[in-house]
Amino acid sequence: NRALGQNFLASDAAARTIAEAACENRCPVIEIGPGMGALTAELVKCAQRVAAIEIDRRMAEIIADRLPEVQLINEDGLIAALGGRANIAANLPYYITTPLCMRFLSLGADGSIPAMTLMMQREAAERFTARPGDRVYGPLTVLAGYYYEVTKLMELSRDMYYPQPDVDSVVLKLTAKGAEKLFELEWLLNRAFAMRRKTLSNNLRAAGISDERLKSLLGACGIEGNIRAEKLTVAQFANIAREIGAHGK
Ligand code: SAM
Repeated sequence: NRALGQNFLASDAAARTIAEAACENRCPVIEIGPGMGALTAELVKCAQRVAAIEIDRRMAEIIADRLPEVQLINEDGLIAALGGRANIAANLPYYITTPLCMRFLSLGADGSIPAMTLMMQREAAERFTARPGDRVYGPLTVLAGYYYEVTKLMELSRDMYYPQPDVDSVVLKLTAKGAEKLFELEWLLNRAFAMRRKTLSNNLRAAGISDERLKSLLGACGIEGNIRAEKLTVAQFANIAREIGAHGK
C-alpha cells in the first residue's frame, strides 16, 4: 500500500547493522511500522524485548504469525502509547516522517527514549543535520539538536527496497544527551518559525508576548529582536526557553 509508505527493506545486511545500532544500550526497543518484519527479525536477535506498532492490520497479522515473541500493537504510531523507557527503531513511512519525529522528540524530552535509529529519505535527514541559516533549519533541527546527539549511520540506495522508492535513504542514530527538559522549547520553536520571513520579535509578538516582555526576554539572552529564527543557534533557543520557563511569557 503506497499510501502507507510501504517500501520494504530488502537487505539483510543493512537490517542487521540498523538493528545492532538500535540495541546498543540494552534497552527494550519499539519499532514503528514493522511491515513484513525485515528489521523486526534482526531486532529480536539483539534486543531484550521488542514491541512493534503497525497501522496496517494485514502487516500486523504477518508479524504476529512470523515473530510471536514481538508485542504487537495494531495502531497508528502517531497516537499509540509507547509505554515505558525504550529505544525507537523505524524505517519511517515517508508520508508522516516529520510528525512522527516531532512526536518522538517531544516524548523523548524527559529521557524516556534513550536512542532512536531512524531510516528516512535523504531530504528528511538533512533537516536533522541542518545548520543555522540553512533553508531546512527549523523546529525539528533544534529539538533534535538540543536533546540528542545526531549521527549518520549509513546511506541506503533505492535498490535496497522493494518496491523501489524514488529517493535514496539515510539512517540516523539519535542518542539522548541527558539535557535538562525545557517545557517551553517546543512552544517557542513552533511560534518562532511560524512565519519564516518574519523576524523573531514579530513572530513572538504574534504569539501574544508583549513588547515590554519581548525586550526583557531577548535582552536577558543577549539576542537582537530583528533577527530571524532561522539564524538562532540551538543554544540560543534553549536560553530563551529557559528564560520563559523561569520568568514566564
Ligand atoms: N519496517 C519495514 C521494513 O523496513 O521493511 C517496513 C517499513 S515501511 C517503509 C513503513 C511501515 O510503516 C509499513 O509497514 C506501514 O504499513 C507502516 N505504517 C504506515 N503508517 C503508519 C502509522 N501511522 N503508524 C504505524 N505504522 C505505519
